[in-house]
Amino acid sequence: MKIGFIGLGIMGKHMARNLLKAGHRLIAYDIVRQSVDEIAAAGAEAGNSPRHAAEQSGIVITMLPNSPQVKEVVCGANGVLEGAAAGTILIDMSSIAPQASREICAACEAKGVIMLDAPVSGGEPKAADGSLSIMVGGRKDIFDQVKDGILGKVGASAVYCGEIGSGNAAKLVNQIIVACNIAACAEAFTLAKKSGVDPKVVFEAIKGGLAGSAVMSAKLPMMLERGYKPGFKIDLHIKDLSNAVDTGHSTGSPLPLTAMVMEMLQTVHAGGGGQNDHSALAKYYELLSGVSIGD
Ligand code: NAD
Repeated sequence: MKIGFIGLGIMGKHMARNLLKAGHRLIAYDIVRQSVDEIAAAGAEAGNSPRHAAEQSGIVITMLPNSPQVKEVVCGANGVLEGAAAGTILIDMSSIAPQASREICAACEAKGVIMLDAPVSGGEPKAADGSLSIMVGGRKDIFDQVKDGILGKVGASAVYCGEIGSGNAAKLVNQIIVACNIAACAEAFTLAKKSGVDPKVVFEAIKGGLAGSAVMSAKLPMMLERGYKPGFKIDLHIKDLSNAVDTGHSTGSPLPLTAMVMEMLQTVHAGGGGQNDHSALAKYYELLSGVSIGD
């Protein structure tokens, strides 16, 4: 059975390649033609639209920026639902609002299409080596059907979280923890610099202790180098925290730390840094302190 793959950005291009390597046949689409050509050169068929990709496949995977793009690609003109046969499985692996997943799922159900929300964590390195962590909402029988043959080819773990929208609720939890951890690293290592202690030395001293984390190990070296090539863009993290705050409001769950870190990221965005890696949150502390963690 052919897989339609829509959204060939930083993450999607690697995931599509891993599905090809695993022996799946793919028809791929992105609004950026060059991205389609690159994946076609790796063995996929080039799709002309989400509708075209869905017409040719039994499973469609989407890896798009946010809720509006997924709604447009699935429900819009020339979208997946115009091309998909009843029984098609849509696996949306984008990070979007849980409420949007539920709305898109309802539109799918009206056409006999079955949807899972299956966002990922791990960033580009884990997308490249096929070891993403995947959190999944939707029908459990469909999750069981795609767990090993599809999700297992792009991820090291896929955990069933509950009904549709649960995968994205789990992803919001992940994104809050990552954002607050990056902010804590930026704040604390700025203090190291101001105190006259080399941040590199402090990193070596503490990374194996309780404060050490996957976030610190991945992002502190980027703050030291000040390259900020994404990775995960500041603007995408603002999107996730905005979805988290909306979800917090609708569920009665106050998120004071999340709201604060979101505004810190907004400050970097306003300074022109929205396309930088989210480790560029360090720039916010450069504004406050007048020093940089890196040299
Ligand atoms: P990206 O911006 O690099 O890629 C998104 C792709 O979608 C682009 O190639 C873009 O051209 C395409 N696109 C946008 N609108 C489209 C449309 N209407 N039709 C077809 N294609 C369209 O983003 P990314 O970093 O690959 O992230 C994708 C998703 O995965 C986001 O929801 C993000 O939050 C999530 N995510 C990213 C990372 C990361 O480290 N980059 C990690 C985990 C999860």
